[in-house]
Amino acid sequence: MRILMAASLALLVGTATGGAADCPGNPDAIGTSRTIVVDPREHPRIGSFQYAETLPLEDKEVVLTLDDAPRPASAPALDILAAHCVKATYFIIGKHARDYPDILRRIQAAGHTIGTHSEKHPLTFNRMATARAEKEIDDGIASVRGVLGEQAEIAPFFRIPGLLRGDTVESVAAARGLMVWSTDVMSHDWKRRITADGIVRRTIDRLEAKGRGILLLHDIHPKTVEALPLIFRELKQRGYRIVHVQAATETRLATQTEPKDWELQPPSQSPLPALLASDIRNLNGNLAEQHAMSAIDFCGLPAKAKSASRLGRRHERSQHRAQKASHRRTASARPVTHHAPIATP
Ligand SMILES: [Zn+2]
Repeated sequence: MRILMAASLALLVGTATGGAADCPGNPDAIGTSRTIVVDPREHPRIGSFQYAETLPLEDKEVVLTLDDAPRPASAPALDILAAHCVKATYFIIGKHARDYPDILRRIQAAGHTIGTHSEKHPLTFNRMATARAEKEIDDGIASVRGVLGEQAEIAPFFRIPGLLRGDTVESVAAARGLMVWSTDVMSHDWKRRITADGIVRRTIDRLEAKGRGILLLHDIHPKTVEALPLIFRELKQRGYRIVHVQAATETRLATQTEPKDWELQPPSQSPLPALLASDIRNLNGNLAEQHAMSAIDFCGLPAKAKSASRLGRRHERSQHRAQKASHRRTASARPVTHHAPIATP
């Protein structure tokens, strides 16, 4: 009981410390440093990539989010998270939950936070009618609940497929008490010919520019799974800490924060210039990889080659504009709500 009370108290104040000392058998693990509890009703949309607010993180704190699971590659990814004692937030596709229920049960059993990501992952949420958006969101939650059971905790966290935000989908989500998660850092790990090194490099470079934030990765891709331990090693070397996020409930109170904590603050120090811990080659990128960037594979989901290619080129242009806008916001530390939707993960 005493241990339970201490754990509860630590959770409430958001300082449940952890790390390598709490990760048996792996002294090099980055671990999970603390858990924060958030209330979707108070903060319905987060992620500086698209919204004015993001998670109330301290400098050098990182929240790992994984989209599109469960798929076969999610299983080795779970092993890696366990080996490093990292707790993540998953955004589950309903259809994948039904296809790979055992992997979803493993995610649940490992204590990760489980949010949802629609039923079939349509890349049309930015122009979807209300009834269709309601059905996609509700079916996705129902599929996850169908696998995990009525009593299972499914966080009221939702990520819009492709980050294709729109007023309709945001209203539908808000009406259901869902917190819409955009991101702070994109790693482009869904690109078909990206290497694990490329994923690590993009993740670290872009995180260093912001100094903290939400990472968006896809554990369904083998290259991402290959990159995960390298990312953890690099993060630890640079002094970053992993934070686990849970939703507030009647018995789990939200971590106390101030309104300004939900604005992305500029980094406390200049980004470190190079990778530190990894034996990663190709630090400056590789031309072949860059030239392959028009070959977009949206989340590994099947798409007609021709339309995917057209969509890919459109995506590249819209994302470039969005990233420029995002960088301008970071530089000025003046968040702006609702910039252009981005067809990405
Ligand atoms: Zn996705």
